[in-house]
Amino acid sequence: METLIPTINRLQEVFLTVGADIIQLPQIVVVGSQSSGKSSVLESLVGRDFLPRGSGIVTRRPLVLQLINVSPLKERLKVENGVKAEEWGTFIHCKICRHPFFFFFYIFGISPEPIYLKIFSPNVLNLTLVDLPGITKVPVGDQPEDIETQVQEMILSFISNPNSLILAVSPANSDLATSDALKLAREVDPDGRRTLLVVSKLDLMDAGTDALEVLLGRVIPVRLGIIGVVNRSQHDINTQKSLEDSMKDEQTFLQRHYPSLASRAGSRYLAKTLSKLLMHHIRDCLPELKTRVTVLSAQYQARLNGYGQPVEDHSATLLQIVTKFASDYCNTIEGTARHIQTTELCGGARICYIFHETFGRTLQSIDPLGGLTDLDILTAIRNATGPRPALFVPEVSFELLVKRQMKRLVEPSLRCVELVHEELQRIIQHCSSFSTQELLRFPKLHDSIVEVVTGLLRKRLPITNEMVHNLVAIELAYINTKHPDFTDAAQVSASVNSQQAEAVDGGKRWKNEKAAEEKTPATGFSSPSKGQAINLLDTALPVSRKLTSKEQRDCEVIQRLIKSYFLIVRKSIQDSVPKTVMHFLVNHVKEHLQSELVGQLYKQPLLHELLIESQDTAQQRTEVAQMLEALKKANNVISEIRETHLW
Ligand code: GDP
Ligand code: MG
Repeated sequence: METLIPTINRLQEVFLTVGADIIQLPQIVVVGSQSSGKSSVLESLVGRDFLPRGSGIVTRRPLVLQLINVSPLKERLKVENGVKAEEWGTFIHCKICRHPFFFFFYIFGISPEPIYLKIFSPNVLNLTLVDLPGITKVPVGDQPEDIETQVQEMILSFISNPNSLILAVSPANSDLATSDALKLAREVDPDGRRTLLVVSKLDLMDAGTDALEVLLGRVIPVRLGIIGVVNRSQHDINTQKSLEDSMKDEQTFLQRHYPSLASRAGSRYLAKTLSKLLMHHIRDCLPELKTRVTVLSAQYQARLNGYGQPVEDHSATLLQIVTKFASDYCNTIEGTARHIQTTELCGGARICYIFHETFGRTLQSIDPLGGLTDLDILTAIRNATGPRPALFVPEVSFELLVKRQMKRLVEPSLRCVELVHEELQRIIQHCSSFSTQELLRFPKLHDSIVEVVTGLLRKRLPITNEMVHNLVAIELAYINTKHPDFTDAAQVSASVNSQQAEAVDGGKRWKNEKAAEEKTPATGFSSPSKGQAINLLDTALPVSRKLTSKEQRDCEVIQRLIKSYFLIVRKSIQDSVPKTVMHFLVNHVKEHLQSELVGQLYKQPLLHELLIESQDTAQQRTEVAQMLEALKKANNVISEIRETHLW
C-alpha cells in the first residue's frame, strides 16, 4: 500500500532538482491555531522529536517534510561527523546532504519560502507533510503588526493547492465551532473532499466532559473523518518521555476513555489513514499529472530542437545555414516559403504589387501634357521656325516638346527600383528572424549574412538605376514617328497637306479667319472640355495677346501628337522597367546570393568566430535538456505507478 508514496517522493525530488514547481504534487498540509498541537501531530507521524514545539517557540517558515521509510534490518549505518545514524535528514533545497536533525534556521523570521527536509527513518510511514506557522491573532515580541494576515495568506497559499490534503488540527479543550483550522479549510475546500480533522489534547479536557460527540462527527461532520489523538504534554517533553512510550500511553488512554473508538483513533491510526488518503488522492491526480508531463515534454523537446545541436563540424554547419538562408530568401521571393505571412504582403507578392499597383498607377496618373502651357508650345514652334514665319507646324518643335514630357517618366521608374530594393532588404530581416531559427544561436553569423546580402543589394542598386535611366534614354534617342501605333502622325500629315493646298489660296483663307476672329470675343476660350485646348488666357498669355486661330490650331496639333506619342512611350516604359528590375536586381540577387554568401563567409579563419554561439543559447540548451531529462524520468515514474494495480 505504501509503494505509491516513495514514487511520489521520487517525482517530487525530480522536480525539485530542476527547480521548477510546474506540477503541484499531492501532499499533506497541517493547519491549526497556535499551540493546537500541529508540530506534535507531525512529530508523532514522523516518530521522532525534532520539530520546534512549545508555547514560546513558533514555526515561522513552511516546512515540507518527506518521510521515507527505510528498513532497520539492513546494514546501512551512516557515519557522519562521527555520529552513527540509523535515521537521517536531507535538506533538498540547499543541497546540504545528510544532516543530523538540524532545524535551527527554521524558526527565524516569517517567510513563505518553504524549507524542504527529507527524513529517512525506519520509524516513519511514507508521507509528504507540510508544517505551517500557527494562526496567531496578536503579535508577540518582534512579530510584525500584520502577522495574522501574513500567516493567513501563507497558509491559504498552501492549502488552496487542490492537490493538498488538509490536516486541520483543533484541540479538544476548545470549542470546535470556533476552530480556525476548520474555518480556513472550508474556505478552500467547501465540500470537504480533502480535509481531515485531528482533535488533539484529548487528555486535557475538563473533568466530566469528553469528545465522543465531536469524534463521532455529531457536532461538525467532516467527510474524510475525525481522528482524536493524545500527544506529549509539555511536561512529557521536559521529562524527555520517549515517543514510543507516549504512543503506548496514548493507546492506553484511548482504550480507557473511548473504548468504542480506540481502533479508529490515535497517532498510528492517523498515520495509516493519511497514507491511504494520500494514495487515493495521488491516484486521482495521476491522469492530469501524466497529461501535463506529456505536454511539457513535447514543449521542451520542441524548444530543445530549436536550439540545435552543439556545433561539431563548423564547415558543414556554416554551409548548411547559409544554404538554408539563401533558399528561404529565394522562396520568399517565389512565394514558396514555408512561413507565409498573412498580415501583409511580402516577398514576391509585394514586388508584384509594386510593379502593377504602385508603379503602374503612378505612370497612368501622369498627364501627357502636364506642365506644358500653350505658351511653351507656341514658343517652341516659333523657335523651331527661325526667322521665317512658318506655314506649317514644324516637326522639330514636336520632338523637342515630347522629349520634355518623356523625361518625366524617369522619376517614377527610379522610385520603382527603390521600392523593390527596399522590399528585398526587408526580406532579409524576414528570413533571418523566422525561418532560420538557428541564426539566433549565432549572432555573429546572423549579422554577417545580413551584411553580405545588404552589400549585394547595394551593389546592384546603381546598376539597375542606370539601366532604367538608359531605358528612357533609348526612347529619347529616337522619336519614331513611323511607330505603327502612332496613327495620329498620319492624320496630322494629311491635314498639313490640306493646309498646304489652302495656302495657295491665301486670301480666301485669310478672310475666313478674319471672320472667325470677329465672332470670337476676347474671353471666348471658354470650352474647358478635355482634349481640347484649355483656357490659356488665364495665366499663360497677357490679356492683350490673343491666340490667332492659326496659333490655336497649331497648338492643338502639337498637343495631339505629344499625347499620342507619349502614350506609346509610357506603355513601353511601364512594361520594360519591371523587366529590367527583375533582371538586373531581383533575379541577379536570387542567382548570386548563395555563391556571394559562401564566397565571403566560408573562410577557414572566419568559421569559428562566426559560429560562436550566443551565451544564452548554450545555457538555455543545457537547462532545457536537463528539464527534459527530469520530465522523462517523471513520465517513467508515472507510467510505473499507473501500471501497478494497487487499487
Ligand atoms: P503547534 O503550535 O500547533 O505546533 O503546537 P505544538 O505541537 O508546539 O504544541 C503546543 C503545546 O501543546 C506543546 O507544549 C505540546 O507539548 C502541547 N501538546 C500538544 N498536543 C498535546 C496533547 O495532545 N496533550 C497534551 N497534554 N499536550 C499537548
Ligand atoms: Mg508548530
